[in-house]
Amino acid sequence: MIVVMRPTATREEVDEVRRSVEEHGLEAFLSVGDERTVIGVVGDVDRLTNIGTLPGVDQVIRVSSPYKLASIHEPGERTQVRIGQVEIGLGQELVIMAGPCAVESREQLMDTARCVRREGARILRGGAFKPRTSPYSFQGMGPPALTLLAEARQETGLPIISEVVDPADIEVFDAHVDVFQVGARNMQNFALLRAVGQSRRPVLLKRGLSSTIDEWLLAAEYILAAGNPNVILCERGIRTFETATRNTLDLSAVPVLRGRTHLPVVVDPSHGTGHRSLVGPMALAGAAVGADGLLIEVHPDPPNARSDGDQSLDFEEFGALMDELRRLQFVRAPTERAPLEEHKENAGGIEELRYKIDEMDARLAELIQQRAALALDVQRRRDPHVHGHDVRRERALLERAATGATGPMTPVELTMVFDAVLRASRSVQRRHAQAEVAGGDTATGNDR
Ligand code: PEP
Ligand code: MN
Repeated sequence: MIVVMRPTATREEVDEVRRSVEEHGLEAFLSVGDERTVIGVVGDVDRLTNIGTLPGVDQVIRVSSPYKLASIHEPGERTQVRIGQVEIGLGQELVIMAGPCAVESREQLMDTARCVRREGARILRGGAFKPRTSPYSFQGMGPPALTLLAEARQETGLPIISEVVDPADIEVFDAHVDVFQVGARNMQNFALLRAVGQSRRPVLLKRGLSSTIDEWLLAAEYILAAGNPNVILCERGIRTFETATRNTLDLSAVPVLRGRTHLPVVVDPSHGTGHRSLVGPMALAGAAVGADGLLIEVHPDPPNARSDGDQSLDFEEFGALMDELRRLQFVRAPTERAPLEEHKENAGGIEELRYKIDEMDARLAELIQQRAALALDVQRRRDPHVHGHDVRRERALLERAATGATGPMTPVELTMVFDAVLRASRSVQRRHAQAEVAGGDTATGNDR
């Protein structure tokens, strides 16, 4: 933490800050500039709750992250959350979670579940308890909806996500639901956060209507600190002065979160926009900006939906969006996800050829490793101060590639391949030689 003093701060005020830091068992490092004094604080800064109110203090800047478990420790760190067979995060394929805002009847849920499964969704959403702004609006079917959701999971094989609003419901949810959704209105319901944190079920934590990213991450920290590592964040729009959309979908939150947390991030373009016509474009934008998943409301008859009909896609609209996500390669066709073994049975077709290519790639990888092992042996037998490779033979190899190409590859393409193989082999040799030289130096006491 850095405490920046005002230019007018007196010596006594600076001393008072230092005393306060030290009284809390932390260390203070003073840097006295021409204009102001800056105090670096090292230790558990969470103990210093009132430092900003001391006389003469201008600004208190936190350097380390207050969310220890949610934050990244090295650039690019990502975690993966597993929901049954579905993996989300860590650069895996975009996961589509889709279904009605609220479960209304068996027929409505089953029809929607079949549709979203056919179109390529991997998780079925459906609200059983709806936290509505008005007490007179449809509040959800309650427990019977959970039974229907379990039935839909049974039939379609899709894991279920549903919002839990009360810690007392967690037990019954546990039996019917695969992912607990904590809604925007409950993002800072700390009793609920602690309660879902005591489970091991994945939790999808929506961003509060007017919460900053840091507040959201601190809410995630409650769940992590309670022992549940399976947290997924969901950007669902925030409240701004704009009225053309229901909320303002803050897509910049996705790359901002990437720089702060390892947790997977999902975008909800349905609540984020509030209008059916905006859901598709913002879903694509969410995918483009690097979301790990999308949460989308789908209804068989949106105009007659009991909640959020304006923002729900009908089956055709959802199908068109999924086609577009596939066309842009954010989502793969189910066949592309099939395990290798299935390919063997598909004799004669493209899959058969692809299977052969996969096998050949595996053999090539092995051969290239064997080649590198031989190159390493050559280096081992030489003086580490001398290059292990033979430039003359390398050149000859590249020349042969450049003149004698007999397959569909052009000489240039074949040369590119051998060039890459040679570079990698040389790098293996160099690493070994450097280690030898360093080891030798240590043995002889040289200090270079
Ligand atoms: C929902 O997903 O149905 C929902 C109520 O969302 P939010 O909490 O984002 O308003
Ligand atoms: Mn909704």
